[in-house]
Amino acid sequence: MIMTAFAEGNIPTENIRGRLGYTFAAMSSHAVSMLAEYLRGAQNAWAFTGAGVSTPSGIPDFRGPDGLWRKYDPERVSTIEAFRERPEEFFSFWIHRFELMGRAEPNVVHRLLARLEETGYLRGVITQNIDGLHEKAGSRTVLEIHGNARTGTCQGCGRRYGLEWMAERVREERVARCGCGALVKPDVVLFGEQLAPDFERAWEKVSHCDLLWVLGSSLQVWPAAELVPLAARKGARVVIANHDPTPYDDLAALVIRGDLAELARGLAQEMGLEVKG
Ligand code: NAD
Repeated sequence: MIMTAFAEGNIPTENIRGRLGYTFAAMSSHAVSMLAEYLRGAQNAWAFTGAGVSTPSGIPDFRGPDGLWRKYDPERVSTIEAFRERPEEFFSFWIHRFELMGRAEPNVVHRLLARLEETGYLRGVITQNIDGLHEKAGSRTVLEIHGNARTGTCQGCGRRYGLEWMAERVREERVARCGCGALVKPDVVLFGEQLAPDFERAWEKVSHCDLLWVLGSSLQVWPAAELVPLAARKGARVVIANHDPTPYDDLAALVIRGDLAELARGLAQEMGLEVKG
């Protein structure tokens, strides 16, 4: 197995006291059975996902080893100012990425989360992703706290448009402009903007959950990342599954380092769930 667990090699299965509660350092297959046990024992479990759940679907993340922010400056292309002041540059960066998201297919991680919801182990998914792949995989309760790339809204008259329309406008005129003359902004949350209304709902759900399972997020984007200390403060068990360390690993009951697709296959097998991929 590629998976390794937090503090692998040094402290295989001891508890280490963290800031709030404890961090359980476990070895790979042990980590999978721990996670299965946590899911079986939880009454109110939520998944909290980031860009890492969609890299196996071919959508690059931002801060992983091949992440977009290693090549591009987010200030230039991903802020509300960039959209308003340099719309051509904004659209030329984003539109084909949005189209890629529109064409992408869910992977085994999305499918496992949908199956866990269907079988009653998860209440739903809170996602920072804008690609819509959780819904496409069959998840029914999905809170998209950073909005979605499927639609856009005119900044002048409020008319809504689909991604295909925006892409066509950008191909022809380099920006998406409504008939009223104003720019159409994709319905994603840019740096410098308020979070989507789903964030409030997510806050409420996390305040009452007993297990928060974080998957594929660097937990460096605020205020989304705040959901993790919130869960810990409220006494929920936190599990973090990610390639790289996150700033909140020491709040987690279990940290699993490794590939999420591999983890998803291992967990499906451990829990006796049939999941394609
Ligand atoms: P991020 O890029 O900051 O972090 C992603 C993390 O996932 C990294 O730490 C990386 O090591 C890990 N990762 C990547 N692939 C993995 C895999 N196969 N297995 C295990 N770990 C893996 O992403 P973020 O924390 O979600 O924050 C970035 C913001 O950008 C989000 O708010 C989101 O809105 C947006 N975004 C969305 C998409 C999408 O919708 N698919 C893609 C890129 C960025």
